[in-house]
Amino acid sequence: MRELICDQTIPDIPARIEAGQKYTSGGRHTAVSLILIILMLLFSRTTASSIDSRRQLYFYHTHTKESLAVVYHDGNHYIPAALEQINNFLSDFRNGDVRAIDPATLDILFRLRAHFGGSGTFEIISAYRSPETNAMLRAKGRDVAKRSLHMEGKAIDTRLRDVKTARLRDAAIALKLGGVGYYQKSDFVHVDSGRVRTW
Ligand SMILES: [Zn+2]
Repeated sequence: MRELICDQTIPDIPARIEAGQKYTSGGRHTAVSLILIILMLLFSRTTASSIDSRRQLYFYHTHTKESLAVVYHDGNHYIPAALEQINNFLSDFRNGDVRAIDPATLDILFRLRAHFGGSGTFEIISAYRSPETNAMLRAKGRDVAKRSLHMEGKAIDTRLRDVKTARLRDAAIALKLGGVGYYQKSDFVHVDSGRVRTW
């Protein structure tokens, strides 16, 4: 499993001290030092809160049997390289087509994981679905919408390991962040970042 952590938010404190010292003029060292200490405290606090609020997800793909642990948001911004990694992981497993997965959909999963606590792993049944795959499934008479949000990278069919799927559905509905479908027989929940609706 590869973990991607962005290190771009760690402030370059030594560089800031140097920059500050350029403005030090005779007799004002104490005041400048005090300001620098305050600045350093402020920056270290920002970094700490960024670490607390970073968003991490764990995936296991039921078709490719691959796993992924990824920090996709550093507390301030989405991390492009991490999103790209997720897009590849959640590509159309039937033909390898890749499309951007809506970060709002990832956030729904993150909220669900936070709700149940722990480092829950989402088992992926289906995520991005290319128009070709969608048409093929429809032709086979599968329960697939003609304009499925899977084709827009906004929907994920999943279950959360060690959590009853009915409970996952209830929690997803309570979030009111998009569509939630419950597929009891196949034991998964469809979540998407589209309109709030349930089935
Ligand atoms: Zn679905």
